Amino acid sequence: MSKIGWIEQELTSLKEQGLLADIRAIESPMDGWVSIEGRRVLNFCANNYLGLANHPKLREAAKGAIDQMGIGPGAVRTIAGTTTLHLALEKRLAGFKGVEAAITFQSGFAANLATIPALAGKADVLFSDELNHASIIDGARLSGAQIVRYPHCDPDGLRKVIEETAITGRAMIVTDGVFSMDGDIAPLDEICRVAEAAGCLLMVDDAHGEGVLGRGGRGIVDHFGLHGRVDVEVGTLSKAFGVVGGMVAGSRVIIDWLRQRGRPFLFSSAMTAPDVAACLAAVDLLAQSTEQVDRLWQNAEIFKSGMKKLGFDTGVTQTPIVPVMLREAPLAQQFSRCLFEEGVFAMAIGYPTVPKGKARIRVMNTAAHTSDDLARGLAAFEKVGRELGVIA
Ligand SMILES: *Cc1c(COP(=O)(O)O)cnc(C)c1O
Repeated sequence: MSKIGWIEQELTSLKEQGLLADIRAIESPMDGWVSIEGRRVLNFCANNYLGLANHPKLREAAKGAIDQMGIGPGAVRTIAGTTTLHLALEKRLAGFKGVEAAITFQSGFAANLATIPALAGKADVLFSDELNHASIIDGARLSGAQIVRYPHCDPDGLRKVIEETAITGRAMIVTDGVFSMDGDIAPLDEICRVAEAAGCLLMVDDAHGEGVLGRGGRGIVDHFGLHGRVDVEVGTLSKAFGVVGGMVAGSRVIIDWLRQRGRPFLFSSAMTAPDVAACLAAVDLLAQSTEQVDRLWQNAEIFKSGMKKLGFDTGVTQTPIVPVMLREAPLAQQFSRCLFEEGVFAMAIGYPTVPKGKARIRVMNTAAHTSDDLARGLAAFEKVGRELGVIA
């Protein structure tokens, strides 16, 4: 057998199990509708919560930045310097979040890989929600710290594992803010009390809460009114903000430390000038008006109640993320293909993104959809759900 024969076998096996990721090619800007294979389809997949990915203000800002600042950063920031644009964005983000300082990274994934190993090392312990995002898991592993998983969104379970763990060094609790596959919100207020009682640092990865939760989309800390009590807020600029990039918001001391010890900051180049300018425009839009955030939640309510009325199981969601639980991966894939025939782009999600036997279609509601769009989407779910015997 060739040296890579095993990979061919693995790929074939994934395909047979209905677990091979089938990536659609998009021929238009990311928006409420997209073109795929020459057809306009309703887009229920993107984390483009506020419809900013193709917003005229962001497009204009990106073009203006190219004319003024060019594109690439030339090298990592500690070596070739950083643009005033990057510094302006970090200042704006800190102001928006109501913290002392913020730092940006190339992605939310990179933000976790930078932050966790900078704050915890071999002698330390990380308490991590069992359903945390892959980038938290990888950042935790990279840190070399002892990783203690606690039951999902369970502050009492967390308190118990902390009591049972011999902590000799430092300790940090890490949780997703909104869990992206189920749409549930971490009980950050209670987790915060546990962290304070135990003297642990607290870090939240608010990738799906940024631009969604809190006043005007200021995130989960604002949602629970926990300003000044959560040490580290990680976020992404690729979801509600509609661009790409990661950020960390917190105290000046922690942000200064990440500039010195965050490895993706020190060894990987920064976001491009048009990315940064587009992010600045996004923060401006959010700071000016809550219109997009309000429409996002209105749409989510319409869609969720419509799906419940039709008899679909939409799990435990508390946010615009709507998991449509189908359990078996091949059924979820078939459901997704049938929806596509009906002009709706909604991807099936299976193992390893969600546990085996918990395959689903995940619908992302956004402010880019009209009430007509939602009605069409619900009609497509009704038709396919009946055809495949998922609903009566
Ligand atoms: C999406 C996501 C990330 C990664 O963000 P990118 O900017 O796409 O790299 C990190 N953490 C969580 C919880 C996420 O949902």
